[in-house]
Amino acid sequence: MGNLKILVTGGAGFIGSHLCRRLLEQGHDVLCVDSLFTGSKDNILDLLDNKRFEFLRHDICEPLTVEVDQIYNLACPASPNHYQFNPVHTTKTSVNGMINMLGLARRTKARILQASTSEVYGDPEVHPQTESYWGRVNTIGPRACYDEGKRCAETLCFDYYRQHGLQIRVIRIFNTYGPNMHPNDGRVVSNFIVQALRGQDITIYGDGSQTRSFQYVDDLLGGMTAMMNNTSDFTGPVNIGNPDEFTIKQLAEKVLELIPESKSKLIYKPLPQDDPKQRQPDIRLAKEKLDWAPKVKLNEGLLKTVDYFRRTLK
Ligand code: NAD
Ligand code: UDP
Repeated sequence: MGNLKILVTGGAGFIGSHLCRRLLEQGHDVLCVDSLFTGSKDNILDLLDNKRFEFLRHDICEPLTVEVDQIYNLACPASPNHYQFNPVHTTKTSVNGMINMLGLARRTKARILQASTSEVYGDPEVHPQTESYWGRVNTIGPRACYDEGKRCAETLCFDYYRQHGLQIRVIRIFNTYGPNMHPNDGRVVSNFIVQALRGQDITIYGDGSQTRSFQYVDDLLGGMTAMMNNTSDFTGPVNIGNPDEFTIKQLAEKVLELIPESKSKLIYKPLPQDDPKQRQPDIRLAKEKLDWAPKVKLNEGLLKTVDYFRRTLK
């Protein structure tokens, strides 16, 4: 694969900024498009004077005319706090934004990868979640703007594939963490680390028995680029996540172990509505089709993330 011109929407966000860096390292030209709603120029500051990197402040709900070979569509607020702030705009980003990016892919004959989510499984009755499970989402709850938006985005990808022969790739990302998460993002890993470093109480929602399976961002990048570049016409959807499952209480205890000087205590707050009780990816499909599996254990990834927050909170 030679040098490609690659569009990364949401490229100034947590995952997008890592992806831009990885693609530049691989020798590609990167166009980062971001509205800066939850992302920040700080995440891409070191890339701004790279001649192969361009940044464009733009909302994907508006059409975009550029020439590209590949599109990674990551634009969408991902933390419950942020996606519930303007829920109508969240749905528009997943639906109108997806249509705009699929239209762009159609015109330029670019391959497009959609960053879908384990949230399409909702509060699942099947455990671990396989790609063949259709999910259990409350269509009218506070998480629906994100979950249903992402479900519809998948539908649009597959309709453009069937109707227009587009080259699509759909990955379902499970909870991912790492450096460049926004300190006030509200997601559990960043919340717990920031609270522990600041000596604030660690806020466990509910009794902390709900589970999540946490993937370090480097592992996700491997799965994401392997999926984009698979030449076997494998469209997905495919789960990309780390199957090591933990309760939220266990996560809080681990964070405190890694920050031994912390004086934080665990406190319990009400569980948000429709909060999924359990989540663990079945990754057999990714192993079989992409020869991919995550490598980074939770302790190792948390240490790197703690280091990052120690530096940035100073
Ligand atoms: P993030 O909030 O850090 O990044 C999202 C980026 O998209 C931000 O830079 C934001 O400014 C930008 N954005 C939002 N709406 C936009 C719009 N309408 N037009 C242009 N830019 C817009 O979140 P993240 O964790 O980096 O997530 C990236 C993608 O991965 C999202 O699509 C998310 O749904 C998906 N995902 C993430 C996780 C995870 O655990 N981090 C899990 C599943 C799926
Ligand atoms: N959570 C928590 N305390 C926090 C933030 C989140 O206990 O300060 C819980 C939340 O209720 C959920 C889990 O951690 O059960 C993961 O939440 P997050 O918002 O990170 O992701 P999602 O719910 O979308 O998986």
